[in-house]
Amino acid sequence: MVWADNLPGGTMQIGAVYREALQKLNAFLNDREVSSIEAYFIVSEVLKKDKTFLLTYPEYEISDKEYDSIQKIVNERLSGRPIAHILGKREFWSLNLKVNEHTLIPRPDTETLVEQALLCASKFDSGVRLRILDLGTGTGAVALALKSELPDAVVDAVDYSEEALKVAEFNSTNLNLPINLINSDWFSKIKARHQYHLIVSNPPYIADNDPHLKEGDVRFEPRTALVAPMNGLYDILNIVRKSGDYLANNGYLLLEHGYQQAGDVKLLMNYAGFTQVETVKDLGYNDRVTLG
Ligand code: GLN
Repeated sequence: MVWADNLPGGTMQIGAVYREALQKLNAFLNDREVSSIEAYFIVSEVLKKDKTFLLTYPEYEISDKEYDSIQKIVNERLSGRPIAHILGKREFWSLNLKVNEHTLIPRPDTETLVEQALLCASKFDSGVRLRILDLGTGTGAVALALKSELPDAVVDAVDYSEEALKVAEFNSTNLNLPINLINSDWFSKIKARHQYHLIVSNPPYIADNDPHLKEGDVRFEPRTALVAPMNGLYDILNIVRKSGDYLANNGYLLLEHGYQQAGDVKLLMNYAGFTQVETVKDLGYNDRVTLG
């Protein structure tokens, strides 16, 4: 599409600029749905307008400078860098989170973990002050989503990475959702025994030989947040084994895992003494979260 060159400066219409971005992204990503979402992200970021505005006023004229900024972001995206890293943010559970190369980019699949944790939380008496522990919090996505829904809960969130904790701290302050951030290798710095009503985690669970690691956004994310030994099960095993020492009576452990790991995770949890172990599917209908 060369229309933009045919027009004098300052008369580019946002609808056409969006379509041009969409076309370029789609030629690269080969996924029209994702390309259209990313094209909207880019255009709304540069123009500081929301999606409704862009849909309602496709004839809105943008400046040369804005057009250049959009092109720059599109071109950077065409180098493979994740859009969440280029824009430095990603929405999760309707929270706008800062994201960088030190954290996993929050995924919609992980909202299943939040939903299930809220269901478990609802099983406690309303008088109980819930204590929640999020292991490997990254951007703080899961911990902050839970705090946003359960403002009275005490939420502790740990990460091994100091850099990730800086991002989580920024998000906590920026969203005005106070959580306790702890630098810890899983449970190593957690002193409170038998006190958590919920322990949640989206740990690394991908096997290091998974071909999926060579494609897309994961290439730019920290491997420590993605990959675990033992076919991806090492950290899950560690968490399952130790959770019993930290859970309150009738507390729940909820783990995100790979879509082919449900059987193994269930076995590990049963073996560790968990009861009522069940697996829940994500929006893509893949086994994603196991709880007990
Ligand atoms: N679900 C992510 C992916 O497959 C991985 C997240 C994780 O390892 N915790 O890209």
